[in-house]
Amino acid sequence: MCVKPENSHLSRIQEAPDPPLNRRCSSGFQVYVQTFGCQMNEYDSRRVIVSLASRGACLTNRLHRADVIFLNTCCVREKAEQKAFSFLGRLRHLKMRNPAVKIIVAGCLAQQMGDLLLTRFEHVDLVVGTQGFSTVGRLLDELRHSPVKIAHLPESDPEWDIPCPPSGGTPECPVSASVTIMQGCDNFCTYCIVPYVRGREKSRPSRLILEEIQGLVDSGTREVVLLGQNVNSYGRGLDEQTDFAQLLRRIHAIPGLLRIRFTTSHPKDLTDALIRSLAQLPKLAKHLHLPFQAGSDKVLERMGRGYTAGEYLEKIQNLREACPDIALSADVMVGFPGETDEDFQATLRLMETVRFDTLFSFRYSDRPGTKSSQFPGKVDEDVKAKRLRELQAVQELITLEKQRAEQGKVREVLVEGPSKAASNGQMSGRTMQNRIVNFQGSAGLRGKTVHVRIVSAFSHSLRGELLPSQ
Ligand code: SF4
Repeated sequence: MCVKPENSHLSRIQEAPDPPLNRRCSSGFQVYVQTFGCQMNEYDSRRVIVSLASRGACLTNRLHRADVIFLNTCCVREKAEQKAFSFLGRLRHLKMRNPAVKIIVAGCLAQQMGDLLLTRFEHVDLVVGTQGFSTVGRLLDELRHSPVKIAHLPESDPEWDIPCPPSGGTPECPVSASVTIMQGCDNFCTYCIVPYVRGREKSRPSRLILEEIQGLVDSGTREVVLLGQNVNSYGRGLDEQTDFAQLLRRIHAIPGLLRIRFTTSHPKDLTDALIRSLAQLPKLAKHLHLPFQAGSDKVLERMGRGYTAGEYLEKIQNLREACPDIALSADVMVGFPGETDEDFQATLRLMETVRFDTLFSFRYSDRPGTKSSQFPGKVDEDVKAKRLRELQAVQELITLEKQRAEQGKVREVLVEGPSKAASNGQMSGRTMQNRIVNFQGSAGLRGKTVHVRIVSAFSHSLRGELLPSQ
């Protein structure tokens, strides 16, 4: 499962200037897109944008200008769900002022609520489930010709694996682009709603993945981020015999592609073959996101995670032996039903043993229909909040120490573009370990790898100085 951490800011209503694509667009209708949740949702939104663009749509960042508002929602955590509800509530006034605007709600929340969304939010025109992204364009055509409200929740999407064109509605191809390689999940962790709203696990044929990546690389992309709920189990159920490590090797052979990253990995499916790939494939980023969720075996068992804390630590040891420079991140949860102080201490011990480079931490919340929502021993919200604060304080120190340990090192950086934080001509990119580095450099470096000496470190980024190319 890949979601934004509890302490991050999920997308807000923005009124930023329109993207350049909009200024080139003189006809058609304007679409405002708001995506909640993980990178997989961003990818699905990109597919919808492409389909709407083929119908004459232009992107706008200004809500009041939009003819169509498309929301891609997430309900994996209560907080993401609340953000989507709050956004939807604010749209009510906008619809009253402009009844012609069409409001579309898609994704996990749409899948979970279906018709109920249309009843609860009368200003919504179209609800589309997680298997209906490819139908959004067609349904919008219907909607624009007749004012009937529609809830469309198909069981499967026959077009889900078709390669997405590179542009994705943006004027230039991103240096780093996401590519979904699989969907859904068969693991049924007891707290998780993903298998219910995203469906059972299915992998895209490798031919289609390679075709999509080749298209991206031809258009200027230099890094791909392979996405799936559990990429380690890629290939199960496909007619071809390709596992994730084999897929990585085939992607690695694409000329012009400089980097490969992937997320998310399940510890129980982390194979020796994948560890060897991390050690041997030069284009594969030296970073692994490996959620552990809890450090207590009792809690892990009740979560249905399929490994013990000892087994998790053994995998980390194997990884570090094979690939000493690897950076590690993970997801962890506090306040799972029945979690005692002793269990929580076990989580802290695991964190301090591994010393993750970054950690995404969450408070447990009941998700409707999951097994754990029926478990006794619910932890008081104040206790959860206290544990989360304690855990985050421990991790902040570790993260800062890890960042400071970068000072003086020379790192290869893939330049993504101008730094968001600085308006003084700084460029920004990522190291192989997925650390953000800002440095003084020219715009012409976008999409290239450069060598940078790290001169200072902050919690979320590094500052470096560009070294002359050799
Ligand atoms: S592995 Fe578990 S937590 Fe991750 S998506 Fe599947 S069921 Fe959810």
